[in-house]
Amino acid sequence: MSNPDSIGRVYLVGAGPGDPDLLTLRAARLLTSARLVVHDGLVEPAILAMAHPHAKLVSVAKRRAHHTMPQEDICALLVREALAGNDVVRLKGGDPLVFGRGGEEAEACRAAGVPVEIVPGISAANAAGAAAQIALTHRDHASVVSFVAGQCKGLSDQDWSGLAGVGRTLVIYMGVKTAPQIADKLMADGLAPDMAVAVIENAARPEMRVLRGLLAGLPDLVEDNRVKSPALIVIGEVTRERDADIAALAVEANK
Ligand code: SAH
Repeated sequence: MSNPDSIGRVYLVGAGPGDPDLLTLRAARLLTSARLVVHDGLVEPAILAMAHPHAKLVSVAKRRAHHTMPQEDICALLVREALAGNDVVRLKGGDPLVFGRGGEEAEACRAAGVPVEIVPGISAANAAGAAAQIALTHRDHASVVSFVAGQCKGLSDQDWSGLAGVGRTLVIYMGVKTAPQIADKLMADGLAPDMAVAVIENAARPEMRVLRGLLAGLPDLVEDNRVKSPALIVIGEVTRERDADIAALAVEANK
């Protein structure tokens, strides 16, 4: 795949929530044939294990508040490799364009004249909805779903008014550490303290946990259960466990 006489291509590939079965076929094909894979920290070892045996794997792992490689350097790396004639598979957790900074990487490539292809992935919200059996837009309970980022930086500046409440589902990425501020912010916006919430940790992975509670109790729910990233917070009526669901699960369990 390396040809110094021509420019390589950058593939921004969504790796989904961590289960290799949830890769798209296109992602799996690119991964198994790529010679250079640049990945971030959210990508599971089981997925990286699918890479070609001769592939070079480069980690640009990012953890909250600890950037091993600044975003500009990641962009520069992708461009440099492509201009040297190498195709690059840039593997990102979930979907590359949902809180993944894929937009910036695609811009950097386009600005340098490097062709980019974007391969969508299953975002954490979709994975968590399916795995926890929470219908993000259940017809009886919500007709709107919003995705927001809950990390510290800029949280107080973000205007979430109207995104959560009756008839709406709010999915919060990167909100574990800021759960107390998130609960306060939403209640200050007028949300009822007894609005239903769920926290889904490690969605679609074997170690997944689904915790349910009420908005006022969200900080305790996170702290008492020692919830760790990656986890999503979902706010809305759709997360409330209903008698019918519980009955169905009981039937399932007794089979
Ligand atoms: N591009 C990714 C999101 C990157 S931001 C996507 O589309 O899913 C990182 C955040 O995504 C994490 O802090 C967490 O809130 C969420 N996340 C990613 N994978 C997750 C998983 N398996 N379970 C729960 N949340 C997850």
